[in-house]
Amino acid sequence: MTAVADVQATIAAIRQEVAALHAELTRYQLVVWTAGNVSARVPGQDLLVIKPSGVSYDDLTPDNMVVCDLHGHVVEGEHAPSSDTEAQAYVYREMPHVGGVVHTHSTYAAAWAIRGEPVPCVLTMCADEFGGEIPIGPFAVIGDDSIGRGIVDTLRDHRSPAVIMRNHGVFSIGPTARKAVAAAVMCEDVARTVHISRQLGPPLPIDQSHIDALHHRYQNVYGQQKDD
Ligand SMILES: [Zn+2]
Repeated sequence: MTAVADVQATIAAIRQEVAALHAELTRYQLVVWTAGNVSARVPGQDLLVIKPSGVSYDDLTPDNMVVCDLHGHVVEGEHAPSSDTEAQAYVYREMPHVGGVVHTHSTYAAAWAIRGEPVPCVLTMCADEFGGEIPIGPFAVIGDDSIGRGIVDTLRDHRSPAVIMRNHGVFSIGPTARKAVAAAVMCEDVARTVHISRQLGPPLPIDQSHIDALHHRYQNVYGQQKDD
């Protein structure tokens, strides 16, 4: 294959992957109507593939995904890209190890967002996946790079692959789009369980040394069994 055909084949595969991953957002009830989105970096290219804006989840196909450059400008696609494209493009520009970004307004995580309170690390699965609390990012409006900056500033020095943006919702990152989706699913699950626990009484803490050990094991030793 020529280099150009190679890039086209890669883009086609990423279109397929990104379209299919949106079914996980509805499966786990992380989104309503057309809110939320998944994007993925095109490996080796300054490009990303993202959900079109305003298209119903049932109508998402590989063909209607939108290819943009890393400044959010459309390179290929009939539809306008998701309104979060600029924020996600900023993340791909600033964090070269990120291969996928997911955004949802999932209910329990958004409830923590409204109170601006990080979800404390009081479950082993939270230590595994997030390595500590799930942090809160700043309040930011759509329309410039302030959401992107808020995500990057919060996650840059944090173990967590998810940030709950204040009064808004979840942005999660991963080395692949599939891992970013997993982080969004886990974030909602942890936010829900800790919320329910709080109704019953104060949660018991986990020692920092145990959080560190759990996270290390899950990220390194447990790797072969992990869904990747
Ligand atoms: Zn949003």
